[in-house]
Amino acid sequence: MRTVWMAVLATLIAAAGGASVPIRGPAFDFAEAREGPRHTLYLSFDADMTPGMLKRLQAGKVASWYDPAIVQYLRDNEIPAVIFASGLFAETYPDLIERLARDPLFAIGVHGYRHAAFTANCYGLPFLHTDAERLDDLTHARDTIARITGRAPTLFRYPGLCRDAHDDALVRQAGLTVDTATVVAGDSFNHDVDAIVRQVIRQARDGGTVIFHLGGPNAPVTLEALKRVVPELRKQGYEFARK
Ligand SMILES: [Zn+2]
Repeated sequence: MRTVWMAVLATLIAAAGGASVPIRGPAFDFAEAREGPRHTLYLSFDADMTPGMLKRLQAGKVASWYDPAIVQYLRDNEIPAVIFASGLFAETYPDLIERLARDPLFAIGVHGYRHAAFTANCYGLPFLHTDAERLDDLTHARDTIARITGRAPTLFRYPGLCRDAHDDALVRQAGLTVDTATVVAGDSFNHDVDAIVRQVIRQARDGGTVIFHLGGPNAPVTLEALKRVVPELRKQGYEFARK
């Protein structure tokens, strides 16, 4: 309204023979005024599985490498997300991955076949030495996810987020798109809920992507962190969307 009155005033000044001053105000967005500012955030959950993790599971040393309560929380609160599953994870939990893929709330992305890094010195992960090995891991992971979900995956996330400049071309060659995250929740092997919550809130920006993990012993307090982060972000005007 202020803009309108200023325009009227300018017209009156001009009509009275005074100097005409161009009045420029920001376009007023009535929809935004009604609903408050809205920002979009994309949540994602990495579901890791290395051959070593699989061995520990099979030996009964670990009960589960994911937390079903996280999936339930996302469903109960209608929070869309992409689950980046390594091929070995999908093979270990095919029913879960198939169910998630069928749920319109979720999409399944590719997170390598055996969660091997694309570069050396990536958090101690074993790494793929040659481009042939990298491409083989990519296509094997892609085909595993496609077989289990019944649809071709489109998104890829590097294990450990480690990449060399030319790796994106290999990912494209496998028909996948690299998904980059802007907010690393830091929930792997972390018991500090406060630190995770602070980090996500501090780094959240409109259009950003957050990386969490799907729980289990390698992400012990992800659910607790989510239960605090989600209401806080919603209070700040964030809406969650799926890629
Ligand atoms: Zn990972």
